Amino acid sequence: MHDPSFAIIGGGIAGLACARALIRHGHPVHLFEKSRALGGRLASRRAPSATFDLGAQYFTARSPEFQRELETWQQANVIASWPRSLWVCDEGDWQRKQDDQTRWVGAPRMTALSRHLSRNLDLHTQCRIEHLHREESIWWLQDDQGLRHGPFTQVILAIPAPQAQLLLAPHSSALAKACQRIEMSPCWTAYVLFEAPLTSLETPGPEWQAAFMNGGPLRFVTRNGSKPGRNDQGESLSLLATPRWSQAHLERDANWIAAQLLAAFAERYPAPLPEAQLVGAHRWRFSQPLTNTETRAEPAAKTDTLDFQTDPCGLALCGDGMSAGRIEDAWLSGHHLGNYLST
Ligand SMILES: Cc1cc2nc3c(=O)[nH]c(=O)nc-3n(C[C@H](O)[C@H](O)[C@H](O)COP(=O)(O)OP(=O)(O)OC[C@H]3O[C@@H](n4cnc5c(N)ncnc54)[C@H](O)[C@@H]3O)c2cc1C
Repeated sequence: MHDPSFAIIGGGIAGLACARALIRHGHPVHLFEKSRALGGRLASRRAPSATFDLGAQYFTARSPEFQRELETWQQANVIASWPRSLWVCDEGDWQRKQDDQTRWVGAPRMTALSRHLSRNLDLHTQCRIEHLHREESIWWLQDDQGLRHGPFTQVILAIPAPQAQLLLAPHSSALAKACQRIEMSPCWTAYVLFEAPLTSLETPGPEWQAAFMNGGPLRFVTRNGSKPGRNDQGESLSLLATPRWSQAHLERDANWIAAQLLAAFAERYPAPLPEAQLVGAHRWRFSQPLTNTETRAEPAAKTDTLDFQTDPCGLALCGDGMSAGRIEDAWLSGHHLGNYLST
């Protein structure tokens, strides 16, 4: 009988939450992440005079469990509430959005959160796992350099379902099938750094920080310099496209995408935009799961919560795809799985 040893594939919020739960119970954990930085869909791009959030722009906390965790992040000074001034733009008609929802961001970047959650972990970054091997009930991981990592008694996949499916297919038809049922929508995010601040207007007010966009290719726009801890940066926007528009233009060149999304914003902003100093776009092939309950996967193993999946062969699956596709869901999924495997 081997002592439990855990490998987590994916250093997004779900993988990190799972790792924290496991190490809190005293288990050794190795976390493998294909990118240089952790955070996954919390990613930002850093330019010399601005940082653009490319993925999630904010998050909310609805469950008491996540709210308690959020308090610890507040105490660690890695999050802050934002935006104060939120708008809705309906085909060029700007209205202030009033609701009771508190929204949060990592400060000074979304990835402050992943940095905080990754402290004291055994990390293997720039290490893409390409195959899983099982030898006498023990798991080995093979990376893109052909290196083997192991042995592990349990492997946790905390990556988008379509990517997890490829790794799982040879070993667990139940988990692979569960992944297949989770459809994910794409998202193009454009970013722009301007030479000068946007013209101050009465509507939207000069302090506007973010806007939901209705009609046209855009769905949400944020002013990165208005986010907590970033007031020393130049005027910049993150421009998120709708899933439908992103799907229709998925294979287009990033420069073309950036130009289209910037033009769509210019059409809806009630004053001419300053000259752009830097523009670009990032494609998320798997941005968020479709929140259609008919496509929601059935659990492969009966568990108290349905936001993760396990297979008795020593494989498990967590992430936002197991639930409604937000940061809170990803954290809860990883956290629940880590606790479940520790008992
Ligand atoms: C454009 C956009 C806007 C969003 N807006 C919001 C929002 O407003 N509010 C909100 O709450 N949520 C939002 N989300 C969703 C939120 O970002 C996700 O729900 C959450 O970050 C998912 O976390 P995760 O850990 O499940 O997955 P991910 O963050 O995708 O993490 C998976 C990690 O696994 C790594 N990986 C993948 N394959 C391998 C491999 N083979 N080997 C090693 N590593 C691998 C990836 O590099 C990545 O770091 C948004 C997402 C996007 C893309």
